[in-house]
Amino acid sequence: MTNTTPISLFNNLTIGGNDILLMAGPCSVESYEQTYAVAKSMHALGLRVLRGGAFKPRTSPTAFQGLGLEGLKILRQIADEFGMLIISEALGVEQLPLVAEYSDIIQIGSRNMQHFPLLWAVGEQPKPILLKRGFMSTIQEWLSAVDHITSRGNQNIILCERGIRGFDSSTRNVLDVNAIALIKETSQFPIIADPSHATGRTDLVFAASRASIAAGADGLLVEVHPNPDEALSDGDQSLPLESFPAFVDDMRRIASAMGRNLI
Ligand code: PEP
Ligand code: MN
Repeated sequence: MTNTTPISLFNNLTIGGNDILLMAGPCSVESYEQTYAVAKSMHALGLRVLRGGAFKPRTSPTAFQGLGLEGLKILRQIADEFGMLIISEALGVEQLPLVAEYSDIIQIGSRNMQHFPLLWAVGEQPKPILLKRGFMSTIQEWLSAVDHITSRGNQNIILCERGIRGFDSSTRNVLDVNAIALIKETSQFPIIADPSHATGRTDLVFAASRASIAAGADGLLVEVHPNPDEALSDGDQSLPLESFPAFVDDMRRIASAMGRNLI
């Protein structure tokens, strides 16, 4: 039984219906060329939603913090050329108008799931929101964060299970497949999975993605980089472009076993 109410995005795309949306792209927008290479490959594979961080929530203040406005401009230019949508993160209330201007879906990161002023601010504007689960948050706390957004008006919310903190350092996080199945059964909001942050390891992204689709996920958010060894963030969990077509092919097979279509 699913109770998902589909959400209309731009360019006639819908999430939460029969289509599974594969959103992909680099962790951070590093340059025009880097982002273009990923978008070109996605376009050739029939994918429509480009991810990329312009404002990055980095654990260390000395790590690459993103290109900011320049990153948003790069994303927009490339997405428009290929007729794609953009998803990018807003880190705070101050930069929300900028991210909302350039981006089609506004991502709220794991570290900000309970940043209430930000939740209220995205609730007061119309663009769809991707609300990531806090890495130490319960499902109930996550759904309460959704209520904070909807209480201000915006009902266009996509949930994203991105892994929660466990005790085993072999993987970066623990993908909570239960959460995907539970949200699918009990919530009206579409749910997607981020196998990249959930595992922290490129070699596990295929398996975690398969499991997510099999559990009912309405989409995936996957990090892809033309040269992961040189990525300025999250290279260890990014798929290289060479393996991306095989990945998409594999996910399409799982989607089809679930009676769904992956785009
Ligand atoms: C990201 O998507 O690049 C990101 C920073 O994710 P999270 O908020 O899940 O850590
Ligand atoms: Mn990342």
